[in-house]
Amino acid sequence: MASRPAEQRVEARQLAAHLDAEGVRNIAVTWIDNAGIARVKAVPTARIGNAAERGIGMSPVFDVFTSDDAITESPHLGGPDGDLRLFPVLDRVTALAAQPGWAWAPADRYDQLGTPHPACQRDFARRMAARAAAAGIGLRMGFETEWVVARTPEGGGPHPTDPHTPLDYPCAGPAYGMTRIVELSDYLRDITEALTVQGIEVLQLHPEYSPGQFEVSTAAADPVRAADDVVLVRETLRAVSARHGLRASFAPSVVAGQVGNGCHLHLSLHRDGHSLHRTPDAALGLAPDAAAFLGGILAALPALLAIGCPSPASYLRLQPSQWAGVYQCWGVENREAALRLITGAPDDPDGGNAEIKTFDAAANPYLAVGAVIAAGLHGIETGTPLPDPVSGDPGALGVRERSRRGIVRLPATLTDATDHLEKSAALRDAMGEVLHGAVLAVRRAEEAQFAGSEADEIAAATRWRW
Ligand code: GLU
Ligand code: MG
Repeated sequence: MASRPAEQRVEARQLAAHLDAEGVRNIAVTWIDNAGIARVKAVPTARIGNAAERGIGMSPVFDVFTSDDAITESPHLGGPDGDLRLFPVLDRVTALAAQPGWAWAPADRYDQLGTPHPACQRDFARRMAARAAAAGIGLRMGFETEWVVARTPEGGGPHPTDPHTPLDYPCAGPAYGMTRIVELSDYLRDITEALTVQGIEVLQLHPEYSPGQFEVSTAAADPVRAADDVVLVRETLRAVSARHGLRASFAPSVVAGQVGNGCHLHLSLHRDGHSLHRTPDAALGLAPDAAAFLGGILAALPALLAIGCPSPASYLRLQPSQWAGVYQCWGVENREAALRLITGAPDDPDGGNAEIKTFDAAANPYLAVGAVIAAGLHGIETGTPLPDPVSGDPGALGVRERSRRGIVRLPATLTDATDHLEKSAALRDAMGEVLHGAVLAVRRAEEAQFAGSEADEIAAATRWRW
């Protein structure tokens, strides 16, 4: 449907009038490419009806853009030909608190005849959520956002992508320390305020481990909405930072050798409104389908890393004993396990969930949620068992003890993860050849771009890309 039904036209007209009255002049329509970059086309508010009816033109070549704006090609995509239509998702149009006069909407991508573009990541996420629903599984998901904040250099100082330029942090003080909240009190208040008025429920805000590092976690939602939300959260943090003369880095490794930024993905499973994490007759409360779903995710993690940890910079972050989950194991409340089971408070029937610690914010969140659901459903279909849980830090064990317990290190390079994704028939089937091929092409191109680069060069080159 290249042109949308009449109700949508009416809805768009009413929306334009409402936004115009609120002083919104432009709507930024974003999609996330396979390298995790938010790309955008903006339309004046008065054009939202036209955009909702006919879409906004864009080249399909963006599916093979790399994070440094180089262009590669896949067997299906690349080159200057062709056109796609971006349709703003009207029920997600949000006036932006830290960008007065602007609103934002995520986009669905179609071809000119009105068929969903086979490489549309948002459509992939939606298809996988629908597949889960058809299997009777409801899903709630939520991303945690970690970022490092630094001062924007003044007066033409050394450029912050120079690996030798130390970052100028606007706050000092200990990890998780109140000092940082005192020093950045206005900034952090503005973040909560902006997110809240934009309809994002903030659950928690805290300073993290590395200098200038913070985290915000927001409420769980259905998978597609959760991916939309994390895009909006990130752009809001970026905009609030700019208004305070600051810059936000969501890069996996901001400074090589330091604890990086994760973007942990929480998920919980439900059937008929009941949590599958709280059945009274199962060990740990996990219903058999929930155990098999998590078993499927765990088994697929080496391939999922090429989705959730998509940059060469991701592998600078993925170090043992930094709470980034680099071993292919799960554990109850174990922050060193790639998959952490959270049981929730005894009096909270919906508190149970699982957290994939390994993922970072270079990941396209739509690909991440879609691929995780595909892996979980594959686990149910094949009855994948959940192995024994692991407690303690696998990184603190000797090689021999890890191997005795069957604890394996996840891929330590993008090349290794991409090889796993290439071989994964389940993910290839779920994504379709066009999307799977485009992701592989981008990963291979980024491997080649950074082959032979030092860690500090990779961190500096990618520091401000996401
Ligand atoms: N910053 C850590 C990471 O790279 C995570 C710390 C935490 O568990 O919050 O994932
Ligand atoms: Mg954290």
